[in-house]
Amino acid sequence: MQKKWILVTLTLFNLYSLVYAADQAHSIGGHWSYQGQTGPAIWGELSKEYTTCKLGKHQSPIHIETATPSSLPKLVFDYHPIPLTIENNGHTIKLDAEKVGSLTLGEDTYQLKQIHFHMPAEEVIQKQQFDMVAHLVHQNAEGKLAVVAALFNKGNTSHPLIATLWDTLPAKEGDAQTHAQLKIDLTKLLPEDKNYYTYEGSLTTPPCSEGVKWLILKQTQTISSEQLAAYQALYPQSARPTQPLNDRTVFSSN
Ligand SMILES: [Zn+2]
Repeated sequence: MQKKWILVTLTLFNLYSLVYAADQAHSIGGHWSYQGQTGPAIWGELSKEYTTCKLGKHQSPIHIETATPSSLPKLVFDYHPIPLTIENNGHTIKLDAEKVGSLTLGEDTYQLKQIHFHMPAEEVIQKQQFDMVAHLVHQNAEGKLAVVAALFNKGNTSHPLIATLWDTLPAKEGDAQTHAQLKIDLTKLLPEDKNYYTYEGSLTTPPCSEGVKWLILKQTQTISSEQLAAYQALYPQSARPTQPLNDRTVFSSN
């Protein structure tokens, strides 16, 4: 009988701790940003759930200074047009891309889940910075994430797919909006040349979880200054600074 009560008490205590921790995480860690008191330098302090942001040794993004040429599998995209579903989630503009299709990488197949943007681009390559990046987040059957980064620089021409997307930009944070009449082909967000850099990293937003395969396309695409400005009006700065490479190697597909 006594044992049972101890067990009940312990269980209640654990339950209380869990609820308390979740509440703490919500009130303290729930909010993060790209600047000021909840900015990237202290993401790891904002919640217990975010400690990997501070303690992780395989964090993203990184500055790619050198890469080892390697015979890597081709990136094979099999995407189908879908009605546009777009969301302003308070940190980024996100496209819902469930059921769009897959990315095959050698033996491995990953399903596209969602696409979002950062401005400026988070990736730095041989000291070069880029104006914007689209992150195409895929997941395989084991739950591993593979994120394809498509880089954009400001130029004289506008990007046709970005033009379609930006026409529907939700100005305020809120639920996803579906535009059933607007079928979009997300392969148009990818450059023609699919050569890439790859390394093992993390999510670039809290909780900064590691074990993410990064695939950074080398060929950049062009967006107009008007297109840049339209996004900047919503999110003027949405890039985590680069993180130490530590013991990792970056590989290059050519
Ligand atoms: Zn991202």
